[in-house]
Amino acid sequence: MLAIELDLSVDFEKKVLSGSVTHTIEGKGKIILDTKDLKISGVGASIDGQAYKPTAYKLGATDKILGSPLEITLPEGTKFIKVAYDTSPSSVALQWLSPKQTAGKISPYLYSQGEPIYTRSWIPLQDSPSIRITYKARIRTQPNFFAVMSATNDQRTAAPTGDYSFTMSQAVPPYLIALAVGEIQFRTIGGRTGVYTEKAMLDASAREFSDLDAMVSAAERLFGTYRWERYDVLVAPPGFPIGGMENPRLTFATPTIITGDKSLVSLIAHELAHSWSGNLVTNATWSDFWLNEGFTVYVERRIQEELFGKQRSEMEFAIEIAELKAEMATLPEKDQLLYVDLKGRDPEEGVTLVPYIKGALMLRAIEEEIGREKFDAFIRAYFDHFAFQSITTATFEAYLKAQVPELKLDVKEWIYKPGMPASTPKINSLLLNAVDEELGNWKKNKPVNTRDWLAQQWLHFLRGLPADLNASQMAKLDADYQFTKSKNSEILDVWLMLAIRHKYAPAQAALETFLGSVGRQKFIKPLYQELAKTADGKVRAKALFSKNKENYHPIAASLIETLLAK
Ligand SMILES: [Zn+2]
Repeated sequence: MLAIELDLSVDFEKKVLSGSVTHTIEGKGKIILDTKDLKISGVGASIDGQAYKPTAYKLGATDKILGSPLEITLPEGTKFIKVAYDTSPSSVALQWLSPKQTAGKISPYLYSQGEPIYTRSWIPLQDSPSIRITYKARIRTQPNFFAVMSATNDQRTAAPTGDYSFTMSQAVPPYLIALAVGEIQFRTIGGRTGVYTEKAMLDASAREFSDLDAMVSAAERLFGTYRWERYDVLVAPPGFPIGGMENPRLTFATPTIITGDKSLVSLIAHELAHSWSGNLVTNATWSDFWLNEGFTVYVERRIQEELFGKQRSEMEFAIEIAELKAEMATLPEKDQLLYVDLKGRDPEEGVTLVPYIKGALMLRAIEEEIGREKFDAFIRAYFDHFAFQSITTATFEAYLKAQVPELKLDVKEWIYKPGMPASTPKINSLLLNAVDEELGNWKKNKPVNTRDWLAQQWLHFLRGLPADLNASQMAKLDADYQFTKSKNSEILDVWLMLAIRHKYAPAQAALETFLGSVGRQKFIKPLYQELAKTADGKVRAKALFSKNKENYHPIAASLIETLLAK
């Protein structure tokens, strides 16, 4: 089995990690590692892992997407190589936050995001999801800081020392190696769960995730033993660009799901589900990404059904399907397939709702055809059979055919043809139907009953409002339902879109606060995009962006920069 050992110092002043990585290797002659924006200062080769002798290496030409290959000559008998290097301050995997970009505003913060092919910008290694490695790490930082990784963490309850060691003895693909450093504290939630975050967010995070142990147990009842010992969540600072990242043992999550009412915890169910689909059974290439995400959305829905009932899980599925259909209408045919051709393309381009929601729908179609009991047995056996392996779509197809030979569903149509197959399951949500009825009343100026509505019902209500709302209608909605003051990031986001579209002045200050305090791409990109639709709006979008861009992750910032430059 392949293994690496990291020894890195964290320099917040220069925004670099510097040190070395040692690879235990098989093979001879030469080895090629992936790198991106790394400064390599030397490579040593060793037979016994003790004495290293300098060996020849060369960095190849730089590819914009892939970076530069590092070719290392292996003298006869080499079993270990040690690469000494520094990361660049612009490493695409690392976000270096200044104190004002954190929740606490006092200390800087660093975290990594490896998926899909960014780990190479902080560790020289073979950065493919088809490869699995174990790792050890020593991380040296300021004495008052804690470091945490997607590995065994000692819960960081003693005083910080600034010098930490980690072991990950289960083999993971390189994109799941993750690090965060800052004034991070820990709070126990259940027997095997807890939350790491800055002090300012600790109480609220622990309250929001109080069901974490129940969630892990629910998932286990459905899909078999949780194999990663602990399940902890790191609530990242506000600039975190994505919803969550399923780093093993330690999910990284956006603070925008902390609402006080647990209405957005399905994101955690999703990341937890990856403990089976993605982390345990991994897509061998990024074209097989639906194996990670389609299975995960399916499993997420099932965990949710177990914890909160079928009505809520069906409602969330129905909303996602509507979003999928809207996005699919904008995608070229080649990107409507589950198995996406990414030759010569950035794997980021394959990240649409297709692998997530179309993938989950195909699994739902199989479930509906063969029955839940049989499907559950299949999916459990699938996770067991391919545990700690990376597999392709073709492997999945062959396994499905062998296990469920009677299946009539046209799986090939789902995987290799664009659009939605005729066999797409119909998801009927009673909770959304109730909202549709009230929307009808609202349009006719009749009384509207919103009692006990869940956040997702409010979202459905907002999205169903007519396209030509006028100023007084916007004002009335706000007076009746206090949308501008919403503490729920999803609801506020949709409301702010309407506020831009209908030039609703009283929400503009909230819009500016939101864009200045949140970095989650899912929210900020569409808001900037909506602003940029008018000439005045574009000027304003550019001004707001230049004020806020240092709060955003480099990938999110460059995306928005590109869209505002059009
Ligand atoms: Zn996911």
